[in-house]
Amino acid sequence: MSSVIVVGGGHGGVDVAFGLRERGYTGRITVLDKSGFVPYERPPMSKSWINGTGGPEELTLRGHDAFSGANIDLMLNCEVLSINRDRKVVETSNGSLEYSTLVLALGSSPRQLRLSGAALAGMHHLHTLEQAVALRDDLACATSVGVIGAGFIGLEFASSAAKRGLPVTVMETAGRAMPRTASEFTSGYMRARHEESGTVFRFNATVQEIIGHSDRVGRVNLSDGSHVEADLVVQGVGAIANGGWVTDFGLDFDNGIIVDSTLRTKDPDIFAIGDCARFLDDEGGATRLESIGNAADHARRAAATIAGTPVSLPDVPWFWTQQAGVRLQMAGRIDRVEEWLLTGAVESNSFSVLGWRNRRLVYGESINSPSDHVAIRKLLAENTAPTLPVLRPIAEMGLKAAIKSLA
Ligand SMILES: Cc1cc2nc3c(=O)[nH]c(=O)nc-3n(C[C@H](O)[C@H](O)[C@H](O)COP(=O)(O)OP(=O)(O)OC[C@H]3O[C@@H](n4cnc5c(N)ncnc54)[C@H](O)[C@@H]3O)c2cc1C
Repeated sequence: MSSVIVVGGGHGGVDVAFGLRERGYTGRITVLDKSGFVPYERPPMSKSWINGTGGPEELTLRGHDAFSGANIDLMLNCEVLSINRDRKVVETSNGSLEYSTLVLALGSSPRQLRLSGAALAGMHHLHTLEQAVALRDDLACATSVGVIGAGFIGLEFASSAAKRGLPVTVMETAGRAMPRTASEFTSGYMRARHEESGTVFRFNATVQEIIGHSDRVGRVNLSDGSHVEADLVVQGVGAIANGGWVTDFGLDFDNGIIVDSTLRTKDPDIFAIGDCARFLDDEGGATRLESIGNAADHARRAAATIAGTPVSLPDVPWFWTQQAGVRLQMAGRIDRVEEWLLTGAVESNSFSVLGWRNRRLVYGESINSPSDHVAIRKLLAENTAPTLPVLRPIAEMGLKAAIKSLA
């Protein structure tokens, strides 16, 4: 009997396993994860869950019943250590397993700052459920919070901590919030919303060392000679792809496991998907994305290929974040943007910022406007957006009204 082994029971791994069954795959499917938790959702960990009272079970993605109902084996506390590609066997912490097709859905890990004091009590990362549980417990007795890094996870956590009434300071090396992942306009808008909640920003601030008081973090020293008092600090300085070890088994890794546009590694029986995969995108560039949308899209396409069913085109990349009372949704590729255009009225707190290259729409971010987000995804997927010169004179009326007026 053919057998698919999925390494990693996160968003991508779970989707590929269930996607195979939905597409009629009848062989054996096994999902392995080194974590002891049943597969769980990560996004709520930095948002609603961290301030709630529910346990880890609230985050369950698919429980044991769902796995047995779909005839998918789930092996927890099972780490894959090596791959024998000639024999088509993976060695795990629980023994060896044969595969016909192997899917690596290994995710990413938080980047570690090499700082003196980084191991003190009160210093946290927020990536795994174990870390989220430890952070939530510690937050209950914190009196002041520092956040290193003004990326999505840092800002979502800052917003959650501010909601508890705690004083929060965000320290960021760049000159603005979300420097690589949002337009300058949206970044400024979001900063203002966080400041309304009492959060303080320290931009152009590089953390130099962490100073402890009786073995617990007490102060963060910055390169400009100033410091921030905090007895709980979260480091949110980005993530790196897991899976560097695959090079020991002849696969390529360079800021992610290298795969082609069908998500196959150079071994046609081994796929890599989600955060750990660096894939060939629609313009032939090597890209790695960290988002639920990307993991789900990869899982859908890998499952279709393995099951031998028709494979559709890749989705337009999309992402969302919830922070400081704002729902911010993105679609497309911000790294391709050359020009920006604001659509709608900022005073309404519901608008979109569109990114253009050669006058064509390549990206859009929507603030409290899910309907704009849906419209942007459709325009990008169907390549039907008006050009920048056509939209610019009517941008003020808002994206949807402008599109309607052009119809
Ligand atoms: C706090 C937080 C908030 C987020 N919020 C958002 C959001 O709002 N919107 C959004 O789009 N994205 C968000 N993300 C990102 C999103 O969760 C990830 O992009 C997504 O989980 C990637 O899915 P994945 O399957 O590639 O990896 P993961 O979901 O990380 O799963 C990888 C799994 O592989 C396992 N594993 C790794 N190596 C091995 C091994 N050798 N053997 C066995 N198992 C192994 C790990 O234990 C892990 O369970 C957030 C992430 C975090 C941490």
